[in-house]
Amino acid sequence: MASLVNLAAGLFFVGSRQFDLQIFTNVDGANVSVAHVGEGILDGFALRIQNGLFWSNNYFCFHVERASDAREAVILGQNFLGCKQQMQLPNGNLIFVRLPLDCERMEIYDHPTFHMACRQFDLVADRLEIPVAERDRLKYPKRCMAVALPIHCEDGSTKVYTGYRVQHHLALGPTKGGLRYHPEVTLGEVAALAMWMSWKCALAGLPYGGAKGGIACDPTKMSVTELERLTRRFTQEMIPFIGPQVDVMAPDMGTNEQVMAWMMDTYSVHAGYTVPSIVTGKPVNLGGSQGRREATGRGVGYLVNRASDTIGLDLAKATGVVQGFGNVGSVAALSLARYGVKIVAVSDVKGGIYNKNGLNLWELEKYVAKNKAVADFPESEPISNEQLLLLPCDILVPAALERQITKENAARIQCRILAEAANGPTTPNADEILDKRPEIFVIPDVLCNAGGVIVSYFEWVQDLQSFFWGETEVVDKLFRILETSFTQVVALARKEKISMRLAALTVGIKRVQEAKKIRGLFP
Ligand code: NAD
Repeated sequence: MASLVNLAAGLFFVGSRQFDLQIFTNVDGANVSVAHVGEGILDGFALRIQNGLFWSNNYFCFHVERASDAREAVILGQNFLGCKQQMQLPNGNLIFVRLPLDCERMEIYDHPTFHMACRQFDLVADRLEIPVAERDRLKYPKRCMAVALPIHCEDGSTKVYTGYRVQHHLALGPTKGGLRYHPEVTLGEVAALAMWMSWKCALAGLPYGGAKGGIACDPTKMSVTELERLTRRFTQEMIPFIGPQVDVMAPDMGTNEQVMAWMMDTYSVHAGYTVPSIVTGKPVNLGGSQGRREATGRGVGYLVNRASDTIGLDLAKATGVVQGFGNVGSVAALSLARYGVKIVAVSDVKGGIYNKNGLNLWELEKYVAKNKAVADFPESEPISNEQLLLLPCDILVPAALERQITKENAARIQCRILAEAANGPTTPNADEILDKRPEIFVIPDVLCNAGGVIVSYFEWVQDLQSFFWGETEVVDKLFRILETSFTQVVALARKEKISMRLAALTVGIKRVQEAKKIRGLFP
């Protein structure tokens, strides 16, 4: 394998099904240089997947054409991980094709975000040479639940929502992860987020496995009563699968302290006594931790400050752009402003605002609390989410959804530090482009937004002990953990000459791998 060039890796489509293909070749390099995949096109070759290609579960075929002379060849590949079928192309090049197991075995998670998380995992697993059997144990979620959630609506009708919870691994302690309310929530997306939580908790040294949950709903179009009914019904359905020593939820996109309070109340009613440790991110007077609401954004600020030291950027002269002005984005913006950064643009789902002289964030907070959106904020001009990502700035903070930095815009972003406050904002194809742009320092999501789960861990510990800490103590302990993680990741990235993402994931995945190995396999 060492002499082979990894030509391409990416998602391909056959009908509505996606496959994550990796193409290797031993070409001499003269004609084929790169890996550019998308719509099946890669430099020098046009790859076409035709309809009806699946002959059986184990075989597939597709045509490979040289773009210039359109010679065709059919490749047969055996569909299991690690098996590399090879064939002679008319031009004499060897092409190896590998399909990962999740194509066939884990179809329930089929979603671009899940494939993206698998692809990131595979890169690390290849580097660490993790055996195939061990990979599957590490990669695929331990458990998933999908539940129907009927509720009475304000207009007298009954509506049934779908809720999910995925618990990724149980090797290091209870599972931990947020609950997302968003119209596009799917099982596959939740599974990807759960996987990332596993690596994030392990990187920070927390005694948790990863988990994530979600309900496909639009909280902005629901009344408070409907949201409460939905939350309580979901908690009720989850009771057999959660517990302070089993699985602990927290806020994520579309959920907040109030949602956590309803969950804690529902679980406590069921238990017959108050159980604050069942969720984190609760209001402080219900056993929430000081500094939890601000933790993720504050952590982003701390790490950007550390990154700026590393690359020699003066934050007092720096500009910042933040996509998403919710819990994480708004606090990250304020935190950066406290370090002296001038925030020139922010956005939310409805669009963004821009002022080259800097936005008054304290006024903007009040404005958003009243108007529920950043649009039309005084002394700003409108800007789309797409344009916002391409603005020249020193610090770019995606703090909304996954898959925002893609192969389409990665070459055009203009920042010195990319601070991934959101989960999964950068696709693997975009990573390949960023890897060739050393002028951009990436703080990968599993490191950058870990402040949230770290202070969630503090909250859980405080609840279990019924002994509460002051904010200074929380922030001090938070920064210590972030400092350790940051230093470890930078050191590994430099030593091995790998990207910050690969380094961060390597530390996290290795810890989980070791834990599973030492515990052994039952029975
Ligand atoms: P939130 O619901 O409080 O805010 C989300 C923000 O993103 C809102 O301003 C929303 O309008 C905006 N948004 C939604 N869709 C958008 C789109 N298509 N384009 C632009 N903006 C859009 O959520 P949050 O808790 O701030 O979470 C944001 C991100 O941070 C998510 O990826 C989440 O998984 C991640 N995260 C959150 C925490 C936490 O503690 N809340 C911890 C770690 C990671």
